Amino acid sequence: MNIMNAMMLSCVKATALIEMKEHVPLGLLKTMQLRMHTAMCSGCRNYVKQSRLINQLLQKKFDTLPIIKNTDDLEAAIISKLL
Ligand SMILES: [Zn+2]
Repeated sequence: MNIMNAMMLSCVKATALIEMKEHVPLGLLKTMQLRMHTAMCSGCRNYVKQSRLINQLLQKKFDTLPIIKNTDDLEAAIISKLL
């Protein structure tokens, strides 16, 4: 196996690393593998853009949710949604 084959990821592995990167830092090897793959694969570049957009929209949605500290606040939040 030459070094290019060792460095080249499949799209399945690349998308798994793209998702993992949102939560934990990738090591140097995985970062380089992912950069090489996304440089050559337009499908995975699109996946990166879509994944970022979805994460931003979800973050925005969760940022607007009320902070509920106890069951009384939860009950009041549910009742206010029902009315
Ligand atoms: Zn790909």
